[in-house]
Amino acid sequence: MQASSILLVGNGQLITHDHRLPLVDNGCVAIRDGLIAAIGTTAALRESYPAAQFLDARGRLIMPGLINTHMHLYSTFARGMALKDDAPGNFVEILERLWWRLDKVLTLEDVYLSALVAMIDCIKNGTTTIFDHHSSPGAIAGSLFRIAEAAHRTGLRSCLCYEVTDRDGTEVADQSIEENREFLESCKRSPDDLLRGLFGLHASFTLSDHTLARCTRLAAELDAGFHVHVAEAESDVIQCQREHGKRVVERLHDLGILGPRTIAAHCVHVDDREIDLLQSSKSNVIHNPESNMGNAVGCAPVLKMVSRGVRVGLGSDGYTCDMFESLKVANLIHKHQSGQPGAAWAEPPAMLFGQNAAIASACFTRTIGQLIPGAFADIIVVDYDPPTPLTASNINGHILFGVSGRAVQTTIVGGRIVMLDRKLPGIDEDEIMAKARVSATKLWQRF
Ligand SMILES: [Zn+2]
Repeated sequence: MQASSILLVGNGQLITHDHRLPLVDNGCVAIRDGLIAAIGTTAALRESYPAAQFLDARGRLIMPGLINTHMHLYSTFARGMALKDDAPGNFVEILERLWWRLDKVLTLEDVYLSALVAMIDCIKNGTTTIFDHHSSPGAIAGSLFRIAEAAHRTGLRSCLCYEVTDRDGTEVADQSIEENREFLESCKRSPDDLLRGLFGLHASFTLSDHTLARCTRLAAELDAGFHVHVAEAESDVIQCQREHGKRVVERLHDLGILGPRTIAAHCVHVDDREIDLLQSSKSNVIHNPESNMGNAVGCAPVLKMVSRGVRVGLGSDGYTCDMFESLKVANLIHKHQSGQPGAAWAEPPAMLFGQNAAIASACFTRTIGQLIPGAFADIIVVDYDPPTPLTASNINGHILFGVSGRAVQTTIVGGRIVMLDRKLPGIDEDEIMAKARVSATKLWQRF
């Protein structure tokens, strides 16, 4: 799109995620310079912008793109891979026998291709912003820049970080810290609305006080928040109490890791005092229900956290690129866990549409996740013909029971059309998937 030319996306049911005007029948959104210029009825905006290019939603839903606040792009090549040891019996064994073996053998080309494939999948499922958490200890230097290259090619809005850990020795930890530093400095040098960074940390149980102190000093210098796994399995808590005499959130709080820009993924095993610390520090807790169920680590007490004022967003932890799917699982896990069919109707949509939007808006310093003037034009068109009345008060019920990622037809990020009628302009998906299969085959041999 040329500077200051207008694109209208109209003739659809406009879901804004703005409580002042949640739904516009036969609605339209006007995009200019990557931002939303106006919303209204299709008739009104066509009259206001008679020369604008018009993208016809043909009666479908027009809504904000989805946001995934905890993602692992590098997990792509694990799909269908056979493990070489006995099946893992607990969370640490899953890490040792799968993820810590896989990440070690990734090359920079694998990092790029696995990111590219997953980003395409995100776009095809209507996700327009991701917060990725990366690890490739055999190919650290430049890894975040390769992921950024994939983000640039696909057009996905991305916040990246490299996970620092002591589990692979001091040299790897040093290189990881350096990768975060170089990437964060480069983001500062050449500001890009589509790219941000956080300082990545693996988890309490693989990080010494010494390394964490180095990271907090550097993150303060770089003015960056953290992205860290917190109390995902009970073993993290047990190790923390044994080694440090306190629980995980307490330790991270005492070391200065928590705060309004910090993403604390999981928080499955936290007590009341830790919930208070997450709330008072204004940290962002990310709920990953599918991953937690798959790893059998427990059900995070996020409903309690929400009731106590903790900001809780929704992530996939690499389990899926379809955040509509994560929404469904978030709806179910708490009903199942509590034995209360009335539980968790309100909280999961608030996590996905409300808090994820707030987290992304703070990170990218402009409104994301709402169709309002001035927001980034991150918009999806979803094929959905409601069999029952769709009203301002039942939008979330329609999305929960009627929509999945594969129904997304068109995806727009920052005003750029990155998918139109299921096709990604300028992206040869067949060629990329063929290359990915070749790389994955070699990776499986090295694994
Ligand atoms: Zn994770």
